[in-house]
Amino acid sequence: MGTQLQEQELAATQIPAGTMRALVFRGPNDIALERVPIPKASVGEAVIRVTLTTICGTDVHILKGEYKVRPGLVIGHEPVGVIHELGDGVTGYTVGDRVLVGAITPCGQCDACLSGHWSQCGGPIGGWKFGNTINGAQAEFLLVPNAQANLAKISDALSDEQVVLLADIASTGVSAAESADLQIGDTAAVFAQGPIGLCATVGAHLKGASFIIAVESDPVRAAMSKRMGADVVLNFKECDVVEEIRRLTEGRGVDVAIEALGTQETLEMALRVLERGGTLSSLGVYSGKLSIPVEPFASGLGDKKIVTTLCPGGKERMRRLMEMVLHGKLDLTPLITHRFKLDRITDAYKLFAEHRDGVMKVVITP
Ligand SMILES: [Zn+2]
Ligand SMILES: [Zn+2]
Repeated sequence: MGTQLQEQELAATQIPAGTMRALVFRGPNDIALERVPIPKASVGEAVIRVTLTTICGTDVHILKGEYKVRPGLVIGHEPVGVIHELGDGVTGYTVGDRVLVGAITPCGQCDACLSGHWSQCGGPIGGWKFGNTINGAQAEFLLVPNAQANLAKISDALSDEQVVLLADIASTGVSAAESADLQIGDTAAVFAQGPIGLCATVGAHLKGASFIIAVESDPVRAAMSKRMGADVVLNFKECDVVEEIRRLTEGRGVDVAIEALGTQETLEMALRVLERGGTLSSLGVYSGKLSIPVEPFASGLGDKKIVTTLCPGGKERMRRLMEMVLHGKLDLTPLITHRFKLDRITDAYKLFAEHRDGVMKVVITP
């Protein structure tokens, strides 16, 4: 009897102590849930127990091998959680605090950070650490570097689902209009209405665009685009988008054109619909070669600006976005279409990558 009991106990506790489940990138088109050690917080760091996370389009690029990360890395960069452990030197927080951590975790101390370029912390794209250069959020626990700069406490009035999309897509999306310095009354065109493009539409709306034209062919996304603030949605499969935007703006073109896809074609279209002196605000991630057509760029003499932005991170950015949600100015919960447990995260990847079942964003509960 005694031996049997011991065996049963062993079976029940087969989980090695100090380990957690995490989604590991093993190589292109090869991800799997594995048992890995629970991280420990050193000086200035924190460990959070992840309560909700999501899958980003960038994670799909990583999965396909289109964006390179090292095999063995835990991926994911959009964490909501509860503080599990605080390293020395992190003050003003208590174990058990609910926190949102941005996808980008700036140190707050380097040249780039102190020049206001948080996303470029430590070097180009250096602010993006989770699931890129260090272990990410699609796991039960997550080590947060530079915790003092990156843990944003969540109000009791806000649910995990209300804030999870702020970590990346909201911060990235709304930054397009911010970086373009969109003025009240400006007109805007937003190319592509995936999760980031939809948030870019929200941003243009919040910044005071008078007229927002979105470009999208998927009917579900087109409908969501109107809900998020677009006045008109053009289907590029049914019309000449450049001509139609010119017509809708009485020949002027738009003040701000936002590119949220990352292709040569959309970048060119965005440039072609710009008003004189307008700004092309680019959020897309491009690969291969990118060229600027000379004619819509007015041979470089047209006073047109092209600006790019990588997701602004840090706790103050997260606090501001959460305030927007708290006061009813921003609600991205309609974008959450599917919910999965961490055990089924590979199914969630399939659904998300294949754009099946009207999926917009999936959320994952560890
Ligand atoms: Zn992302
Ligand atoms: Zn820095």
